[in-house]
Amino acid sequence: MPISTVAPCGLICDLCLGFQRTKNKCSGCTAEENKSAFCVKCSIVNCPEKNGDSKKPCGDCSKFPCKRLKDLEKRYFTNYGESLTDNFYQIKEKGLEQFLLDFEKTWTCRECGELLTVHRPQCLHCNAPNTYYKRKHK
Ligand SMILES: [Zn+2]
Repeated sequence: MPISTVAPCGLICDLCLGFQRTKNKCSGCTAEENKSAFCVKCSIVNCPEKNGDSKKPCGDCSKFPCKRLKDLEKRYFTNYGESLTDNFYQIKEKGLEQFLLDFEKTWTCRECGELLTVHRPQCLHCNAPNTYYKRKHK
C-alpha cells in the first residue's frame, strides 16, 4: 500500500483512521472534497503564510518550524507519538521518495500487508496488534 498523501503539516494522511475507514471516508488533506470538518478548519491549512496555497508543505516555509506547527506537533506527539517536524527533517535529509518508502515499511502490518493507523492499537484490516501504536517516534 503506497502512501498517497502527506498533509502540509507533515502528517501522513494514510495513517489516519478517517482516511482508512470505509464509511464516511476522508480523501486526505490535499483533496478538494470529502475532508473531515476538523481538517477543513485546520489552522495549518488556513495559515496566512501559505498565501492561499494550502498545499504548500510547512517544511518549505521560511518560518518553519513555527509556533502553530509546534503546537499541533505537541498535541500529536503526546497523543499518537508522531513527530511532524521530524518528518520534514527526514524529507530534507533523504528526499521525499525515500522518506515515504521508509515510512511505509515501518507502518505496514506484518500480518496482512495493509497500512496500520496511528489511531488504533490494532490493524483495522486483520486485527493484528499495532506495535507502533503510541510509540514515540523522533
Ligand atoms: Zn493487518
